[in-house]
Amino acid sequence: MGAQVKKETMGFQTEAKQLLHLMIHSLYSNKEIFLRELISNASDAADKLRFASLANSALLEEDPDLKILVDFDTKKKTITISDNGIGMNRDEIIENLGTIAKSGTAQFLDSLTGDEKKDSNLIGQFGVGFYSAFIVADKVEVYSRKAGSPAEEGVRWESTGESDFDIEDVTKEDRGTKIVLHLKKEEKEFAEGYRLRGIVRKYADHISIPVMMLKEELPTSPEGEDGKDKKEKKEKKTPEYESVNSALALWTRPRTELNDEEYKEFYKHISHDFDDPLSWSHNKVEGKLEYTSLLYLPSRAPFDMWNRDAVRGLKLYVQRVFIMDDAEQFLPLYLRFVKGVIDSNDISLNVSREILQKDPAVDSMKSALTKRVLDMLSKLKKKDKESYQKFWDEFGQVLKEGPAEDHANKEKIAKLLLFSSTHTGESKQDQSLEDYVSRMQKGQSKIYYVAGESFNTVKNSPHLEVFRKKGIEVLLMTDRVDEWFVSHLMEFDGKQFQDVTRGELDLGDLDTEEDKKQQEEQDKKAKPLLERLKTSFGDKVAEVRTTNRLTESPACLSITEHDMGAQMRKLMEAAGQAMPETKPNFEINPAHPLIDKLDKEADEDRFNDLASILFDQASLAEGGQLDDPASYIHKLNKLLLDLTH
Ligand code: ADP
Repeated sequence: MGAQVKKETMGFQTEAKQLLHLMIHSLYSNKEIFLRELISNASDAADKLRFASLANSALLEEDPDLKILVDFDTKKKTITISDNGIGMNRDEIIENLGTIAKSGTAQFLDSLTGDEKKDSNLIGQFGVGFYSAFIVADKVEVYSRKAGSPAEEGVRWESTGESDFDIEDVTKEDRGTKIVLHLKKEEKEFAEGYRLRGIVRKYADHISIPVMMLKEELPTSPEGEDGKDKKEKKEKKTPEYESVNSALALWTRPRTELNDEEYKEFYKHISHDFDDPLSWSHNKVEGKLEYTSLLYLPSRAPFDMWNRDAVRGLKLYVQRVFIMDDAEQFLPLYLRFVKGVIDSNDISLNVSREILQKDPAVDSMKSALTKRVLDMLSKLKKKDKESYQKFWDEFGQVLKEGPAEDHANKEKIAKLLLFSSTHTGESKQDQSLEDYVSRMQKGQSKIYYVAGESFNTVKNSPHLEVFRKKGIEVLLMTDRVDEWFVSHLMEFDGKQFQDVTRGELDLGDLDTEEDKKQQEEQDKKAKPLLERLKTSFGDKVAEVRTTNRLTESPACLSITEHDMGAQMRKLMEAAGQAMPETKPNFEINPAHPLIDKLDKEADEDRFNDLASILFDQASLAEGGQLDDPASYIHKLNKLLLDLTH
């Protein structure tokens, strides 16, 4: 290879540029995290090299002790972070530091508001990484040489973090990556030993390799100010590094030795999240299988939680050697928000994703870890309502996928669910099924719910009228997945879920004898009207009947026991499934004056118009869409005109 130095200037990818801008302008209140992020990257690079060296020990060259050095120069205002990890070649450095590969980045950037405070919260969800260097530096140089590549294949990258970066080939003898931060004038305080040590200790104590800094020279004592001492100091010029952190992988340390701050910092290291976790569970399992797990509940959903390809899973170590990120085989999909580490002695060091999928040991770990997470949630729900509510607001919809995915744990999951309900009438989902059951009426055997598109639609649904009258609580469901998830959950505590819009409303023992008698009489009396309506509607409806559902509205629509609900239909249609047409039942409230008026209407045209209006209104009241809104308006206006004549 020729020793020609290829130097180029390249532009940052648009998304990267936006992110850089955001980083610099919104994270000033928490500047010191740049060091955490860079040390975190260096430690990941060491993990990757250690793993690669299992298959090819030559990669370690003559330098097998993995470590991170943090140096500084107060005069030049620089901080240098060097690692002897895996390193990057030219292509990788362009790709890794010039673009953002995460899917969904564009949507994420679109969601930003321009309000720096709000955006800085959002960026926490996105994760910051390398670009955080530009919070404190106005120029960053990166030197890197990939493990296994010759010294001449080193690269130097440099940027001011605005729109482009320079890249050139250089010779780099030592393997790995060195990052030089040229601090902004106003950030020069960071290039100071005491300060840096403090930050390293705070953020990197749990990193499993040493983070080293030069030994600080002790201040000279007054007595030592003679010539001899000075001479000794001059001779002792070879720099000596010492480890600043304890360099023990955090999860290997006993729980009793760790404090909350350490757990929280470790979480930030593995998740690249800004916020503290809500809770964690650290366990060492001994016996047939031996492994340690440290599982965290984040306090906020990542920006791409609904992206099917979003990364998820745990960081997998085997006997403390990093094996892979995002090992998704250890937890079910509905717990994909959990972050953490698993370190196993029962998995082979050269395991692959494919092997993991088939390993029965992994299956047993998965069920044990699932139980751990559910227990952690249950404990949080009991002990810290506020935090649990936070969890629910962020991840409740994901947890609702549980009953379908994990039948074995249905009961446990059910106890974790929160709903909004007519009991509070608030849209906040904060009522558990246990709460509901404890408030059930005498003679009530079912858990009633109504599902729909928006909170106001379900809260004011005509179907709730009789429940309100009788003081029976109904769960109000508005998440997209609700109907689907209830169809899998089916029951709780031996009580079936019942959609109040479905079938003939059978209130069982909640209906008094008097109610029933009244109903029968009504039915008899209404027979001719029901016949007329049936003729008027033709095959638009399945059945026309009287109802006990309503107290204030003239009519409503119901679906039969086996039909798919509107919400589920929409879900399926959105997924591209053609749905068979279903017909609703039209149910009338004979006690309503409009129904009485309808009954007495002799003019057939006017009868048909009024019937059609009532049908459309019933549909609207449920948040449905009219087939022919113009015709509805036309008929209604005709009636209004009649009124004013
Ligand atoms: P993230 O760490 O979230 O992927 P970063 O922006 O921090 O995002 O880093 C981007 C990529 O650059 C990393 O995924 C890694 O591949 C590479 N990288 C960063 N720092 C180093 C380093 N010290 N050694 C090797 N590769 C690195």
